[in-house]
Amino acid sequence: MTGNVLHILFTDIAGVHRQVSIAVDGVPETLEGIRAGIDGSSIPGYGRIERSDLFVEPASSTIVDLSSFNGGYMTTGRIVTHTGEPHPWDPRSIAGKTVEKAWENGYVFRAGCELEFYITGKVGFYLGRRRQGLLVSASKGGVAGQVVKSHYVSEIPLEVEEALSDVIRVLGNNGISVSKIHRENGFLNQYELSLSHRDPLGLGDSILLSVASVKRVLNTHGFNGVFMPKPFADDYGSGLHIHVSMWIGDRNIFFDGGELTDAGRYFIGGILDHARSLTAFTNPSVNSFRRLIEGFEAPVYISWGIGNRSTMVRVPLNGGRIEVRTPDASMNPYLGISAILLAGLDGLRKKTDPGSPVDYNMYDKPSTSSRLPRSLEEAVESLLSDHEYLKPLFPRDMLEYYAELKLREARRNRSIPSVADYVDLEHLV
Ligand code: GLU
Ligand code: MG
Ligand code: MG
Repeated sequence: MTGNVLHILFTDIAGVHRQVSIAVDGVPETLEGIRAGIDGSSIPGYGRIERSDLFVEPASSTIVDLSSFNGGYMTTGRIVTHTGEPHPWDPRSIAGKTVEKAWENGYVFRAGCELEFYITGKVGFYLGRRRQGLLVSASKGGVAGQVVKSHYVSEIPLEVEEALSDVIRVLGNNGISVSKIHRENGFLNQYELSLSHRDPLGLGDSILLSVASVKRVLNTHGFNGVFMPKPFADDYGSGLHIHVSMWIGDRNIFFDGGELTDAGRYFIGGILDHARSLTAFTNPSVNSFRRLIEGFEAPVYISWGIGNRSTMVRVPLNGGRIEVRTPDASMNPYLGISAILLAGLDGLRKKTDPGSPVDYNMYDKPSTSSRLPRSLEEAVESLLSDHEYLKPLFPRDMLEYYAELKLREARRNRSIPSVADYVDLEHLV
């Protein structure tokens, strides 16, 4: 087979999924020596026009074969300079260093995730629902009940099931193990795909490759995968919950006989301690903060609980790991996961007490716990006042640039009239 295509997926600090595609001969057996030139000055933060030559090279050995979906091959890459050194702001390399940092102390992380998304798009039934959904959500008195509902773990419509089976097969055949897919709470056809636990860097790769594969495979079936955190006002948002455990050899140090250990508690303590600052990386879009509201199983308060889905950190009753529920798919997976791990490690180092687990529904009861940021601006302000735990792995100049970039993004978004403005001012338009 000749004349094939290799798509190299990579990310920038803002969290945009980027791609360069190159012609390859046949099935790429090795990715050694493959390199594609890019214009660094056209990616915010990666260079001035007078010094803009950068390169993308494959960085993982995972290759997803999408050739039966007209898609060629797909892998993940990193941004390197002309000398072949990783760019200091290359997110994948920063995640690699985070893993090494844990390793130096004798720890090994394992991480898994749940990737939530809506399926929309078939003209007629699904698109109709989506339009209706948007309009219903946008009108003041609207309730999602007016549209055809789907339900949590309800049967999956056959044509969607065929598409999702293709997703599981494509990822599974290429080393990315999907442990479960099911229908989520969202009325308007929301799904969740869980990825099995592995090393955190590999999980970052798997997330990038899974989002791209879901989109591509669904497209060939006439659907769309929508991963934005809060696509509909009155329906559930989509999270990207990250599950973490920490090991010394074959011992999970967060649990002992099913009980959370001090190490597990301190790790949670670190995550809660830096929760507000963390959201600047785990929830880095304006839309992210439309999701973090009461009533939709998304976290609102800085809190933890055992089997409690109204808290920000959940210790699942079946044990073995800690679930961080704040992240969404707009995060750069490499930076978001690294930031969570660094916050946890900081807690471990400082023996940060997370307080008692919350055992009630946090949406019902006025809470004394502090709240997560309400906006991207608030998140960035928190990052600016709390970033010691990210050093030295997140370069200082990168953090400064990132804060500026995200504030610009927030201000621009605020200045754009939205559908909601038209609803509020209906009498004037
Ligand atoms: N969709 C919810 C969120 O926005 C999570 C639902 C669940 O617990 O899986 O995070
Ligand atoms: Mg879920
Ligand atoms: Mg979850």
